Amino acid sequence: MRCKECQHSLWKVTARQCPACDRAFKPSDYRFRPETVRFCCPHCSQGYIGRGADGFPDPRRFACAFCGKPIDADEMVLEPAEGIEDHQTEPDAIPWIEEHRPWSARWARTAWLALANPSRLIELTPRDLPARPAVVFMLGTQGLLAAGLVALVFALGVVLSLPGGATAFGALTGQGLLRLVLTLAGTMLFTGVWIAVIHATARRNGHEASLAQTVHAVCFTSTPHALWYLPVLGPFVGWIGTLVWVRSVVGALAATHTMPTKAAWRTAGEWPAACLLLTIVVWGASSAGLIGGHRSSEALWFVSDAQSVSRLEKPLLGSAIHRDRVPTYIGELMIDGRLKPGQFLAPGSHTTLAGIEIAGITLEQFEQLAPARRLAVVQQAAGQLSPNTPSHRLGDFVFVLDVLALEVETPGLWVVIEAWDPGLNETGGLVHVLHADGSVRSMQGSAMPPALDEQNTLRLRVGLPTLPDPRSLRHDLVAGGEG
Ligand SMILES: [Zn+2]
Ligand SMILES: [Zn+2]
Repeated sequence: MRCKECQHSLWKVTARQCPACDRAFKPSDYRFRPETVRFCCPHCSQGYIGRGADGFPDPRRFACAFCGKPIDADEMVLEPAEGIEDHQTEPDAIPWIEEHRPWSARWARTAWLALANPSRLIELTPRDLPARPAVVFMLGTQGLLAAGLVALVFALGVVLSLPGGATAFGALTGQGLLRLVLTLAGTMLFTGVWIAVIHATARRNGHEASLAQTVHAVCFTSTPHALWYLPVLGPFVGWIGTLVWVRSVVGALAATHTMPTKAAWRTAGEWPAACLLLTIVVWGASSAGLIGGHRSSEALWFVSDAQSVSRLEKPLLGSAIHRDRVPTYIGELMIDGRLKPGQFLAPGSHTTLAGIEIAGITLEQFEQLAPARRLAVVQQAAGQLSPNTPSHRLGDFVFVLDVLALEVETPGLWVVIEAWDPGLNETGGLVHVLHADGSVRSMQGSAMPPALDEQNTLRLRVGLPTLPDPRSLRHDLVAGGEG
């Protein structure tokens, strides 16, 4: 038992203030391991070993067995029982605050206890522990797990040499990282509101507990929520993590706020249930096309790599294409599998493999063809290209391949424009452009005409013919069978 101000030992102190700094104290500010502390009568020094809750005598007020005077535990003089060292009087505590252990062990034991036995976790949490350690635990856990999962898929992508390597699963792309940051921010917002809702509900129903105790119950149990940060799967399995979290919070509330389990479910469940309902409504409405136009939430949230022009960077701008052997038709890259038919569909667009035809064959059928037959189909489609325009469409992308044959690399020249197939999609929305130097520019559809003028001026300067508006370029009119 040490002064909370100056750490001076308070054993055997008769006064109710610290001898070193004068700070007032009472024994009930402290908790002890049962049967380690002797409580001595202030009148006759008769000792009683604390065997009850928090290591106190049970009951805390009683008549002294020796001198008969009524005494209260807070008036008594305390000392470690015989043969007990100072540190042995400390009660079991939540592992997170056992500072003599390495943080990794404290973290793992706390996370496990929160999952396995949340009510025990809360019993071990001192009632006067500030909110801060719990908040630090949660921020550290969520941040570390988010970074760890990204590192894991990075390693998986490299070790299994998946297509895309380190960027497999889209976790390490700009979109993937943005989604991760937004998910982290969403978690913090969700948690803040949840704590406020639980606390207000508990208060209204007459359960006494400090705000710090509500924070303990919510933050120490938050680990399973990190499932949200799993690349690709996160939005689908995240709710499972949240549900496990809610279950742990219920267990913790039942202990801290002395609530019946049913009331704890109601108190802890309100806000997550409201969020789940809202998600379902928003998701349903956006899939039904009621909000957000054709760039629905799927395109923004549920696709691992929404900006697919950047995916075409490697096959087109990497070392695979030599200046002297630039294909005239992008379909040529499908013969040896450098590009897959699926790569010509932009995530979120309504274009399908069955909806794209080259030389009378849909891309869906094309996937099934033998290599020799593929070659014939691609050659036939290449022969149908209009000789008057330097650009052609395949799926949701318009390709300007003459740029790749230039002797001098000119930054700013367009190579690929993601502009969804106007035959199958409404027009409008964002247009993404991949430049010859690998950079990507996104613009609103209304910014396209001036950007196109600028591009054509640039092309003229390097001796290339002018481009038509990529959005007006229709697949079925240029390279298709009926064109
Ligand atoms: Zn002191
Ligand atoms: Zn006495």
